[in-house]
Amino acid sequence: MHNLTSIANPWVAELPVYEPGRPIEEVARELELGDVAGIIKLASNENALGPSPKAVKAMTAAAGSMHRYPDGSAFYLRRGLAARLGVEPDEVILGNGSNELIELLAHAFLSPGAGVVVADRAFVVYRLVATAFCARTVSVPMQDLTHDLEAMAAAIDEGVRLVFVSNPNNPTGTMVEAEALDRFMEHLPGHAVAVIDEAYIEMVDPARRPDTLRYVREQRNVFVLRTFSKAYGLAGLRLGYAVGPAEGITLLHKVRQPFNANAMAQAAALAALEDTDHVQKTCALVRDGLACLGNAFDRMGLDYVPSAANFMLVRVGEGRKVFEQLMRRGVIVRPMEAYGLPEYVRVTVGTAPENERLVDALEDVVRP
Ligand SMILES: *Cc1c(COP(=O)(O)O)cnc(C)c1O
Repeated sequence: MHNLTSIANPWVAELPVYEPGRPIEEVARELELGDVAGIIKLASNENALGPSPKAVKAMTAAAGSMHRYPDGSAFYLRRGLAARLGVEPDEVILGNGSNELIELLAHAFLSPGAGVVVADRAFVVYRLVATAFCARTVSVPMQDLTHDLEAMAAAIDEGVRLVFVSNPNNPTGTMVEAEALDRFMEHLPGHAVAVIDEAYIEMVDPARRPDTLRYVREQRNVFVLRTFSKAYGLAGLRLGYAVGPAEGITLLHKVRQPFNANAMAQAAALAALEDTDHVQKTCALVRDGLACLGNAFDRMGLDYVPSAANFMLVRVGEGRKVFEQLMRRGVIVRPMEAYGLPEYVRVTVGTAPENERLVDALEDVVRP
């Protein structure tokens, strides 16, 4: 006998709940597959190598201090990140995952009716957050499953405050090139802010990485989002960061919770930053895995989208059905209807044996 939905903000009531990748334990429970050990998860673009061993060591050492609140200003981590990125510490802010930073940007820049420009197949969280703030989502069609920055620039009307560019984009794995981004930034009007989400940038060939931190040094209206969830293998800790002009970072500090970056995460991230070896191994694993999956899909006659990150969109026919059939074989991938891509599933690059399991299961499922 509740009327909560009718008295809630209508724009919240109409929101779908975000559908994350299915956790291994949940799938085991539901399908009564018994042992979780037989199930592999290639559904959330996690790091197949696991966390940085240096981060694990730092967390173990930090465990005994967990009765203390975190350093709310995250002094050491912001200083470490700033030094590594060639910016100032007051140009960096941490978040409970980079997802929280998307929300902080909304707190700072969106009011009901404000415009948010996104690509139609970009990371879905941008539009969910926009809707939660009663903003107006301006959805711009992609070209060849790639952000069309010219069309996005043309879609920026006077009410637009935020423009999201996911680079590489999840779930398509595609990238915009540096020249296109430069041109886009040149023409960005003063009332709009570009948010460049680089969740996977550490895995991208350095020659292909646009120098987005230069926009920060040039004091443009820009925030660059990064995360410890992917290349650093720390998705469970929830830690991301934004780099932007100090004035903009100060705005985000005003709307964050006092201790939004937890102490365990800060300790782990400081150590992970030094673990270049782990990031390099991750990149090599991803490069080899992408090649291996690409070859297998070619052999099976399946279309796929060449990817710059640690996942791939592959066209399997009925995506939801294939997702379910793979799950019954103990392989969790991600269906893509939420992105208007019902014929595809998105698969995360795993270890070599995991990739092999995926290919075997897929061959079993899509064989006519
Ligand atoms: C995985 C991902 C993130 C990272 O989210 P966290 O909250 O940092 O775990 C951000 N943006 C995109 C596009 C992603 O795919």
